[in-house]
Amino acid sequence: MLKFHNSSELTDYLHSKRQHDLKVGFVPTMGALHEGHLSLIKASVSENDITVCSIFVNPTQFNNVSDLEHYPRSLEKDLLMLEENGCQVVFLPEVNELYAHESKREWNLQGLDLVFEGKSRPGHFLGVVRVVNLFFELVKPNVAYFGRKDFQQCMVIGWMVKTLELPIRLVFAPTLREQDGLAMSSRNVRLNPSQRKASVAIYRALLYAKEQLGQVEIDQLELACKSMIESEPELKVDYFSIVEAETLKPIHGFESAKNPVALTAVWAGEVRLIDNLELVS
Ligand code: AMP
Repeated sequence: MLKFHNSSELTDYLHSKRQHDLKVGFVPTMGALHEGHLSLIKASVSENDITVCSIFVNPTQFNNVSDLEHYPRSLEKDLLMLEENGCQVVFLPEVNELYAHESKREWNLQGLDLVFEGKSRPGHFLGVVRVVNLFFELVKPNVAYFGRKDFQQCMVIGWMVKTLELPIRLVFAPTLREQDGLAMSSRNVRLNPSQRKASVAIYRALLYAKEQLGQVEIDQLELACKSMIESEPELKVDYFSIVEAETLKPIHGFESAKNPVALTAVWAGEVRLIDNLELVS
């Protein structure tokens, strides 16, 4: 597996490969890899000639300094996992060197950045589109892989690729879960044993929403799910909302909903966990 720290060296290498018509798959990550990340790597390896994985804890998408400082890092282990799973190229840029390649652009995220994760983490999605667009310009992938675990992020990236008319196919892969249902996340290692145990209530509430959809009013169902989660004293719900998947707009009646999805963010102590479930499938 080749390792690049320098953006120009990466682009030169990929340019030489593209001349041989090799298909490039790209998986952006912030490291502290787990099976969820590896499912994206495996998909890319099976569908492309070269898989590029970036490991970059992007400061512009953190609105909270403590969250950035405490973000888990495990580079040596990550590199082994990538190598074992057939990843050919890992990109490990430095903040200043990477952002020196950014061209100035005004972003208008059409309000997608003002709800849910965007509302709770002001500036987060601006940081995400800045870094992902920068990566796309450098890597020029044929296909890029993202996890549905970050549902709103998938929508924002989908909007960006469409608006900029980028010739990149996007794959939004299913959420991988621990055996007890907790969505895999790099942040899970920060949970203490009792928070970890309590966090299962998040998936339980999402499943309950799926089971009960159409049986009760949407706002009642949201409240019931919120209470289910908060019946665990260590959990505090930031939001639990059932919305239209394509627009993230509220659903007023079950009958009129096309593709309802439940989105949630929950604090377990200092750790913020997000999860979602599409309710009709
Ligand atoms: P992160 O390192 O958290 O930025 O995640 C990198 C990519 O992995 C993003 O596209 C995430 O949506 C995806 N991802 C994170 N957790 C999971 C999971 N449990 N299942 C599938 N994909 C995931």
